[in-house]
Amino acid sequence: MDVTASPLSPRRKTRQIAVGSVKVGGDAPISVQSMTTTKTADVEGTLQQIYALAAEGADIVRCTCNEVAAAEGLAQIVPRSPVPIVADIHFHVEMALAALEAGVQGLRLNPGNLRKPEEIKLVASEARDRGVPIRIGVNAGSLHPDIYERFGGATPEALVESARLELAYFEEVGFDDVKISVKASSVATMIAAYRLASETFDHPLHLGVTEAGPLPGGLLKGTAGIATLLAEGIGDTLRYSLTADPVEEARAGRTLLEVLGLRERKGLDLIACPSCGRAEVDVIKVANEAQTALQALNVPIQVAVMGCVVNGPGEARHADLGIAAGKKRGHLFIKGKIVRVVKEDEMVEALVEEAKMIMAEGVEARLAARDEGAEAEAEADRAMLLDDRGADANHASERIEKIRRRAEG
Ligand code: SF4
Repeated sequence: MDVTASPLSPRRKTRQIAVGSVKVGGDAPISVQSMTTTKTADVEGTLQQIYALAAEGADIVRCTCNEVAAAEGLAQIVPRSPVPIVADIHFHVEMALAALEAGVQGLRLNPGNLRKPEEIKLVASEARDRGVPIRIGVNAGSLHPDIYERFGGATPEALVESARLELAYFEEVGFDDVKISVKASSVATMIAAYRLASETFDHPLHLGVTEAGPLPGGLLKGTAGIATLLAEGIGDTLRYSLTADPVEEARAGRTLLEVLGLRERKGLDLIACPSCGRAEVDVIKVANEAQTALQALNVPIQVAVMGCVVNGPGEARHADLGIAAGKKRGHLFIKGKIVRVVKEDEMVEALVEEAKMIMAEGVEARLAARDEGAEAEAEADRAMLLDDRGADANHASERIEKIRRRAEG
């Protein structure tokens, strides 16, 4: 997929920073982040989770650094992590300094919780000397009380002002290796805050709807906020904040970028019809079985599961591979062309087999090797089904005839 030819608004220009090996901002791919839920002092448990997050598409992982044991853990985690590690700092300047000592590739500071200017400047100077970037992570729920009062609440303007003040402290010590987030749990506030931040700063923006909650609502809130901004060209890195296994956050972030055409597809894209009265199989069951079987192959192809042969292959003709259910049979198609007709109970097996062959030989070779006669067989099934159900399933012509007769009196 050509990710530069996106029909979305052009990406806003931001400066680029480097979180370890991952570039953020400028023309760097939009990156996915997540955060571990283990105690950072539990080195093995945390690393296990980091590896799981990286496998699901996280480019950067954040770990809390809330106590000395956590900082000690980070010193062991950072060199063994497959992705850059950002330390999350709230109240204690000592923890920020300890995390830098541990070798983290980034810090996240919450300006609402770490408030003393001299402490903020001390951390910024240390980060500057080590070449470590900082995220100014403003959060509507923990806004600095003075700003809250001045703006009469956690308004978009208040969130951006909090980031601006923090940035001003950083600039006093010559540090602006910064990305910014202005998260809120209200999607509308978050969208407005990021729009304003994008007009105010040229630093990379880290998108997120904070405290979005459990699935599926959390996923919807996160997507509503993040996708809206991405479609406007705003955002350089993102995190879904879900009350769920953080692997879901990484998966959601990666999937969102893939479906928007902002990152190359890494794995399977399974599409399926929603099913209807025409369906010849239990589409939900077949789609779930196909998803499980194909996901294990880790193939970057689009596969369609369609409930009927009447509309299925045509509607999913853009898919690399698909199956549509017919008269107790499945029509296997590649790019909309029928290549094989299989028994209904062999549909998933046939999909997996064909997916493996597509990966080994390519789409064109598999099209060339299609069963002669498959198309004719499929056409016969289609004709039979249309006869059974009637091409005009909603009896539209009959109704139109009645309307005309009535109109003619
Ligand atoms: S592909 Fe067939 S079964 Fe599925 S929604 Fe369309 S018409 Fe209905």
